[in-house]
Amino acid sequence: MKATAFTVEDIPLIKPGYDIGKLICEKTGIEEHDIVVVSSTIVSKSENRILKLCDINVTHEAQTIAKKNHNDPRFVQAVLDQSEEILLEMPFLLVRMKNGSICVNAGIDHSNVDGHENILLLPDSPDESAKRIKETIFTITGKRVSVVITDTNGRAFRMGQTGAAVGIAGIKATRDWRGTTDLFGRILEVKNEAIVDEIAGFSNILMGEGNGGTPIAIIRGLEMFYEPGTIQELYRPENEDVISKALRYQSI
Ligand code: GDP
Ligand code: MN
Ligand code: MN
Repeated sequence: MKATAFTVEDIPLIKPGYDIGKLICEKTGIEEHDIVVVSSTIVSKSENRILKLCDINVTHEAQTIAKKNHNDPRFVQAVLDQSEEILLEMPFLLVRMKNGSICVNAGIDHSNVDGHENILLLPDSPDESAKRIKETIFTITGKRVSVVITDTNGRAFRMGQTGAAVGIAGIKATRDWRGTTDLFGRILEVKNEAIVDEIAGFSNILMGEGNGGTPIAIIRGLEMFYEPGTIQELYRPENEDVISKALRYQSI
């Protein structure tokens, strides 16, 4: 197998209302079955998911948590507002978000956001955002692409951060190897490869984390993946998630 990957150059600072799908078509030549990888940061900016810290009303709960984890109570409040459940309050806030994603600080960013007082929430429905970008690209170019929206996440048990998929369209989240055989005829029983996270991880290398200004990558050549899909497939059902259960038990 051979694939190529590159960043899309000359992307401006994204402002609310910008059409990301249209911008991609203007800045690069799209081909059938390209995988278009977009950092959540610019999707959020285009969807005006920006909050000013000074506009946030802090509750007693946020005050209490902020004292424990030494964070800005207004920031803590923003995280709580995006969350369905708190799994850890300190040393950092780990929450389950309304869409089922479990992540630190509800994925809210300070970096690469204009203005000292501004914070950036993740897109409200990242799968929907991905679908919109995919459909815009189809309308403009007639090409069917897959879209993966990424964020940089820390990982439990391992140091360092990697790209992770937070919203997808036109691609299945996983490639299921179960029932196929290995080199020696043994049937694979558990391997269900989270391909959109792998795509996000590699694309994150191309995008970088700093001032590169490269929030979009194209991966070309992985032809087999064009199918409907949702990121929900990667969120472990609550009754199977032993780690969340242990965290809940610990906090009682
Ligand atoms: P996240 O991983 O989605 O939280 O995004 P990052 O803050 O790590 O940024 C990923 C890449 O996008 C980096 O190369 C940033 O410089 C770039 N980036 C972030 N915002 C913008 C923007 O508004 N315009 C452009 N051109 N690049 C941006
Ligand atoms: Mn981020
Ligand atoms: Mn990043």
